[in-house]
Amino acid sequence: MSLVSLMYHDVVSDSRWDDSGFLGSAAAHYKLDTTNFLAHLDGLRAVGATFAEPGAVAAGRYEGCLLTYDDGGASAVAVGEAMVERGMRGCFFITTARIGTPGFVSADDLRALRRAGHLVGSHSHTHPANISRLDAAALRDEWRRSVEALEDVLGERVQVASVPGGFMSRAVLEAAEASGIRTLFTSEPTTRAWRRGGCAVLGRYALVQADAPAVAMALAGAGGGARFKQWAKWNVKKPLKRWAGPPYRFVRERLLHQRFGAPRDSAGM
Ligand SMILES: [Zn+2]
Repeated sequence: MSLVSLMYHDVVSDSRWDDSGFLGSAAAHYKLDTTNFLAHLDGLRAVGATFAEPGAVAAGRYEGCLLTYDDGGASAVAVGEAMVERGMRGCFFITTARIGTPGFVSADDLRALRRAGHLVGSHSHTHPANISRLDAAALRDEWRRSVEALEDVLGERVQVASVPGGFMSRAVLEAAEASGIRTLFTSEPTTRAWRRGGCAVLGRYALVQADAPAVAMALAGAGGGARFKQWAKWNVKKPLKRWAGPPYRFVRERLLHQRFGAPRDSAGM
């Protein structure tokens, strides 16, 4: 048995995509409607998925299905409650510069999530558009400030994180490890865990707005066919994205900037 980690973001109702998390259509792509999301949870239970206990994963036991949530949008509160009602616990990765700002969780929300048994980790401090392009000092700053902010709020060590936008690199990993991160989640769709120095690296399978519950159920299933499909798709896209990345991102960020007056998230890719 291996660990299958699923990557969710915000969950909103009535197409109010900007109610939680980062604004705009690029971010909304990764947000699920509430009814659909609850059907994901119930579907995963219906297929008998074994849910991983987040603390056990952080301790190095890689078995079962783990649900993770990026960005730290305000919907994390309701998501956490829906999971608890179903006997499940998840991992919430927080963009710490946004704590207490409109559309994002508050410090009290984070303490409540933790009290309910969820794991709270870092998703960097500011969610840079491409964290792998930062220099070493800026990278260290992103992780250290984020870990310190969470430790201040929670009163405990924070050793788990996810890479914003999935922009993983050796320098991103080394800076995370230097900030005390011992488990780092990426957006690479794989169940394969690897380790570098004192930090374990774990992949995740993305669930997006258009995904029906059957997608999550198939990803969590025993066969592995759906996981292979997402992995194959990602690996075809990866070299293209690297090559086409900067101009494409530049144009998109310019457009988003014009629309909203500030750079926005490009989470989950
Ligand atoms: Zn993100």
